[in-house]
Amino acid sequence: MYKAQMLDAVIKHLRLATMDPAIREPFGLVYDGAVGINRGRFAWVGASRDAPPSRRVIDGRGRLASPALVDCHTHLVFAGDRAAEFEMRRRGAVYADIAKAGGGILSTVKATRSSTRNEIIAASLPRLRALIASGAATVEIKSGYGLTIEDEMKLLDAARELGRIAGVRVRTTLLGAHALPPEYAHDRAAYVRLVCEQMLPQAALRGLADAVDAFCETIGFTADETAAIFNAAAKAGLRVKLHAEQLSNQHGAALAAKFHALSADHLEHLDEAGAAAMAAANVVAVLLPGAYFTLNETTKPPVDLLRRHRVKIALATDLNPGTSPVLNAAMIMPMAATMFGLTAEECLAGMTREGARALGLDEETGIIRPGLAADIALWPLKEPGELAYWLGVAPDALFVGGEMRFG
Ligand SMILES: [Zn+2]
Repeated sequence: MYKAQMLDAVIKHLRLATMDPAIREPFGLVYDGAVGINRGRFAWVGASRDAPPSRRVIDGRGRLASPALVDCHTHLVFAGDRAAEFEMRRRGAVYADIAKAGGGILSTVKATRSSTRNEIIAASLPRLRALIASGAATVEIKSGYGLTIEDEMKLLDAARELGRIAGVRVRTTLLGAHALPPEYAHDRAAYVRLVCEQMLPQAALRGLADAVDAFCETIGFTADETAAIFNAAAKAGLRVKLHAEQLSNQHGAALAAKFHALSADHLEHLDEAGAAAMAAANVVAVLLPGAYFTLNETTKPPVDLLRRHRVKIALATDLNPGTSPVLNAAMIMPMAATMFGLTAEECLAGMTREGARALGLDEETGIIRPGLAADIALWPLKEPGELAYWLGVAPDALFVGGEMRFG
C-alpha cells in the first residue's frame, strides 16, 4: 500500500444512516459501517471490516451517525428579540395592540437598523452556535429585517461572516420583500421597485446573496409583486425561494414553480394544483413546524398531497424572533413527526438530503456518499428512527468538511 493512497481519517463502527437512496435499506443504513475521509470529503463508505487504511482511525463505538443536519430556512441575523411581546400575547394582547405599542416585525427592523454589523454578528453568533450544537453544519440565513439597501447588505454580510467565524457552511438569501418598511407605507410600488432595481442587483453585484426570497401573503407581498421580484432575480442570475401559502392560498407555490424556484416554504394552505406545479418543476417543499407550533396553527401542510405528487419534503427551524424562536435543528424532527405525521425517515431526509436540495447543495452535502463534503454527526443513539423521537437530543460529535467542530 502506497502512503499516498492512505486516507486522512476513517471513522469505524457506526450505525450509519447514509440517507443515500442508492443503498436500498431504510435510511440508507449500513449496520457496522465506516466512512473514509480525504481532503474534507467522504472518500469511501462501507462496512467497518472493509475499511481502507488511513492515517487516523476513530472508533465510533457503535453510535448512530447521520449526515450533519442542514437548516435550509432561517432568519438568524437580527438585533433585539420579541420575548416581551410573546408574553403580551399570552396575557391577551392582540397583534394590533402589540404593533401600536411598537412591537411586531417593525420592532425587529428598528433594532436591526440601529445596530452595527459587528453588533448584529455578536447578537446572532450564539444562535448559530446553538444550531451547530444541535447538529447543523449547513445553515441558510435570510436578510429581511433591514429593508433598506444598506441595512439588507449589512445583514447578508454579517451572515457570511458568521459562517466564517463558526466554521460552518452558510448560504445567504436576500429577503428584501419580507415586510413593507414604514417609510413606504403609502407607496408599495416604490418599495418593490427599490428591491427590484437597486437592492437585488447590488446584492448580486457584491456577491452577498446566493438566492432571493419573498413573503407572498395578504400581510406581505402580492403574487404580482413577487413575480416582479422573481423576474429581477432571474435577470441578476439568482435562484429564488418563496414563503408561500402560510396563512392563506395566494397561489405562490405555482408562481414559485413557474420561476423554477429551489423551494416553496410553509405551505399550510397549499392546494392540489400548487402541489402538481411544484412536482413538475422539482420545487422542494420546506415545512416549518416551529412556526406552526409558535403560532398555534391548526391548518397543517398537506403532507399526503405532497407525497402523492412526489414532491420532495425538507424541514427547517425557520429560526426568527417573531414566529419561530427555535434554536435546535434536531428538535424539528420529532416536531414534524408528531404535528405533521411525517415518518422518521422523512424527518431525517428533511433535515439532511432534502434540506440540501432546497439550497441547491444536493451535490455538496446532505448524504453520506463518496465525493460529498464530509459533514457527519455522531449521536448518542442506536437507531436512526430515534432522531424523530427524542426531543432535544444533541450529537456528541460533529464534522464539517472533515473537520471536527466538537466531539
Ligand atoms: Zn421564514
